[in-house]
Amino acid sequence: MRALCWQDVNDLRVQSVPDPEIVNPRDVVLRVTMTTPCGSDLHFIDGYLPTMREGDVIGHEFMGEVVETGRKVEAVSAGDRVVVPSFIGCGSCGYCRDDLWSLCDNTNPNAELQEPILGDTTAGIYGYTHAFGGYAGSHAEYVRVPHADENCFHVPDELEAEQALFASDAWATGYMGADFCDIRDGDTVAVWGCGGVGLMAQHSAALMGAERVIGIDRFPERLRAARNEAGSETIDYTAVDSVVDTLKEMTGGRGPDACIDAVGMEAHGTGIEHAYDRAKQSLRLHTDRGTALRQAIRACKKGGTLSILGVYGLLDKFPMGVVMNKGITVRTAQQHGQRYVPDLLEYAAEGELDPSYLATHERSLEEGPAAYELFKHKKDGCIRPVLTP
Ligand SMILES: [Zn+2]
Ligand SMILES: [Zn+2]
Repeated sequence: MRALCWQDVNDLRVQSVPDPEIVNPRDVVLRVTMTTPCGSDLHFIDGYLPTMREGDVIGHEFMGEVVETGRKVEAVSAGDRVVVPSFIGCGSCGYCRDDLWSLCDNTNPNAELQEPILGDTTAGIYGYTHAFGGYAGSHAEYVRVPHADENCFHVPDELEAEQALFASDAWATGYMGADFCDIRDGDTVAVWGCGGVGLMAQHSAALMGAERVIGIDRFPERLRAARNEAGSETIDYTAVDSVVDTLKEMTGGRGPDACIDAVGMEAHGTGIEHAYDRAKQSLRLHTDRGTALRQAIRACKKGGTLSILGVYGLLDKFPMGVVMNKGITVRTAQQHGQRYVPDLLEYAAEGELDPSYLATHERSLEEGPAAYELFKHKKDGCIRPVLTP
């Protein structure tokens, strides 16, 4: 089959690779019908996230049609149209049973690569380094999905592909970030970042009853999407002296009740030691990306919530004293998609939230490297390109 593969830093190529096969009796193989790059993919493309190998198939947000099932799969059959969360759950460990799916104990076979860094292991993820399991990704004609009964979710017939695809990750992550904020009527929620996850966090916060949602970014088309699609107010951070002061002014001096960081600090990735040093050399990235989190901490109301969705590794100058003295609750996780996807598909089917506006460019798999360029450099108003293998 054809697949989009990582070759080296800033070198992606479409090439022929072996077709995936059923390895375990609970696996299925999907024909991928739509898949999208994620901001977190840029970390290893830019070389900040180690343990990628030449020829690795990338991509972790996807949907498709089941073409082959292992003999112990019960919940899905050949021909079913399903969407799959990016983190792989087993469904039976304590973490999965507690709905903390990205912490699954059983789906990352490469524990020895993660433990020195995290002191623990996360779930596996498709197409996202060997430290995260080394699974082949979804930017391909076919992909193997382990533990299919837990990881495949039927897409209602009435939904278009673009309406279901983002439940795989961008929407589930954004929704989780808003869920972490325990939003009450009258709350104001500020969201750093108006990419796919940031827009979905804003849109979900509004759905959960936030009275005001404020999106922060610098790209005009993203700020426009925040206003027009998610119903947010917006701050262009290049147009104000201080984002923190602006937020305080907008909220009667108190600050937002909850702040969501949907930016992250690319430079630090999941940091195997030398990645940290490399990151320190990239001072521009370091200061750019750390700024969002520090602003969120300073802007947040006393006693408020900080919800962190951005990907971080080792972080310098985290103002823990501000967090502590202001009594801020910090909540964060990689996405627990399996917990949210059924609700998201229902929202989409009922027309309460249509995430398809994230898909600004549709491209073939062969056009994958060019689509990543468009995405990485946010050219041509790109929020998310979608690939249709
Ligand atoms: Zn993602
Ligand atoms: Zn598990």
